[in-house]
Amino acid sequence: MRYRGRFAPSPTGPLHAGSLVAALASWLDARAHGGDWLVRIEDVDRPRCVPGADLHILAQLAACGLRPDEDPWWQSRREESHERALQRLVAAGLAYPCGCSRKDIEEALRAQGQERPRHGELVYPGTCRAGLHGKPARAWRFRVPPGVVRWTDRRLGAQAQDVAVEVGDFVLKRADGLFAYQLAVVVDDADQGITHVVRGEDLADNTPRQLLLQQALRLPRPAYLHTPLVRGANGEKLSKQNGAAALELREPAAMLEQAGRVLGLRVPASAGVGEWLAQAVDAWRATIPA
Ligand code: GLU
Repeated sequence: MRYRGRFAPSPTGPLHAGSLVAALASWLDARAHGGDWLVRIEDVDRPRCVPGADLHILAQLAACGLRPDEDPWWQSRREESHERALQRLVAAGLAYPCGCSRKDIEEALRAQGQERPRHGELVYPGTCRAGLHGKPARAWRFRVPPGVVRWTDRRLGAQAQDVAVEVGDFVLKRADGLFAYQLAVVVDDADQGITHVVRGEDLADNTPRQLLLQQALRLPRPAYLHTPLVRGANGEKLSKQNGAAALELREPAAMLEQAGRVLGLRVPASAGVGEWLAQAVDAWRATIPA
């Protein structure tokens, strides 16, 4: 099967040193495999999107020599496909409406004597699994099957997560009517024929949820590689939320060299972007397991 990879930024701000690592890695992996590299603007969480950030990101990528092989997709235009997938899950009894507010969930968890998980996300206690009990439907949730989900990441190796215990029945369509990232990413990766997902390590623990959805929708499972995160001076993951500086477009070769170093590639910032990228593809082949 022909290799198809993608970079899927959320347009919540411009690219920064951290997101460039994922962009570069996905591009290098596609080139190293002689495959296609696509860009998908993940603007599904509209309240978090910043107007103009999508075009800014595409311009930053182009300045770094990272040009997609096909026209970019905008996830917000894919609602019909997301809805069809949701309806398939509903018909199969794998998705159900939920009438719980955040407060309801917190109260139910407290009543069960459960602590809040450390990473801040609430494990849904399953209140509406057996019906809404007269409450109006707010969101749609996935009925997570019991058991440990196992997968192998190309960089991190063997991974395991008990999604039912660690995450619970997660949201597919939110109370505000928007599709959740988990559903949108799975449907769009399949519709774009993505064979290889290369993205930041902060998303590694989302992968088991996505594998479950692929299974439920009978979609092919891509290979996964999660790239190292760039940490700021405070040790936290660099992100738009904690004010990471936008990439300096005047010095793309220097930015690429920095991103390459995070990936363990030793390619000096040479004459120009094209030359650097060509050398980096060879270095990637020698460093990263196929
Ligand atoms: N849109 C997600 C983000 O920017 C990435 C999704 C993915 O690569 O699967 O964090």
